[in-house]
Amino acid sequence: MPPTHPTKRPTDAAHLDDHPELPTELLNLPWIDVHNHAHTLSWDDRERYALSGCESMVMVASGYHWTPYKPVRAEDIRYLWDDAINRRAAIERNHFFEANLGLGIHTGVRIENPDEALEAMADYCALEEVVAIGETGVTPTQHVSSWDVDEQRAIVQAQMELAADHDLPVLLHTPNTSSDSGRSYRSEIGTPGYEKNPGLGQEPVIDAENPALEAAKIDVEAARDAGLDEERVVASHADGNNTEYLMAETDCYLSYTIGHSWLIGVTAADVADAIDEYGPERIMVDTDCANVLRTDPFALKRAILELYRYGIDEAAIRQVVLENPRDVFDIGQ
Ligand SMILES: [Zn+2]
Repeated sequence: MPPTHPTKRPTDAAHLDDHPELPTELLNLPWIDVHNHAHTLSWDDRERYALSGCESMVMVASGYHWTPYKPVRAEDIRYLWDDAINRRAAIERNHFFEANLGLGIHTGVRIENPDEALEAMADYCALEEVVAIGETGVTPTQHVSSWDVDEQRAIVQAQMELAADHDLPVLLHTPNTSSDSGRSYRSEIGTPGYEKNPGLGQEPVIDAENPALEAAKIDVEAARDAGLDEERVVASHADGNNTEYLMAETDCYLSYTIGHSWLIGVTAADVADAIDEYGPERIMVDTDCANVLRTDPFALKRAILELYRYGIDEAAIRQVVLENPRDVFDIGQ
């Protein structure tokens, strides 16, 4: 203890010999969320994005959760697109971050006349605010009404062809394998924090040992058949089940969803592991925040700090939360 230390008896403060370098620049690092449904959130939740440094986002106007009727018809999908287009500029004016759109045909529930939605989609792709197609991608099980896997694949591939034509990236809803808490909830009650009618899940349409991984493989084949470069594909919901395949056998980007870790089990630690193993070049982080789920608009900001604590350097953090999204989606500054 230095003789001049003023405390009455030694405290921890007397033992602080080396000061760690603290990454203060991370406090003001802008970031981009490439997958959320912020137009379905509250004003206060969107303000949380602004307060924590969000520079730009992709608000995804696709998902059966928000269609009133199931099975879904093309006009239900178009309503979701039009609602987001209607409100987008007001969201920007309110919060100052750049609010871009992703439009797509989700396969979580069967659509009765998907070709009509596809036909309309080309004109939507030409809009400046549309920066991605998605979220879409083959899913192993549907809600309410199941959808044959070949029909799903055709719809996914058709969207990828549109993306190739319009030079847009595709955001995949890569099926993730949920964390297993060891217990399941009462089937008539369902999962608290996930607004979904329990018991309406259909039998799987993919007969494989690992249906979630198989779905990702079908999506990648569809991209190849559509003539869409794999580096224009962003596999959201990357997880331990699909990372090795996507990294080793494709050129796709992987986006780790960390806005509802309580449900799918993916955290900043998984992102740090992936950066350690594969480098930051093809990695992003997204929140997937939406009103139907218990989600956290601060998740990405928290992950920035957490990645540093886990030993990731500032340049790699900047690349995964800002530079990769800017490059792939051509958004932000
Ligand atoms: Zn989503």
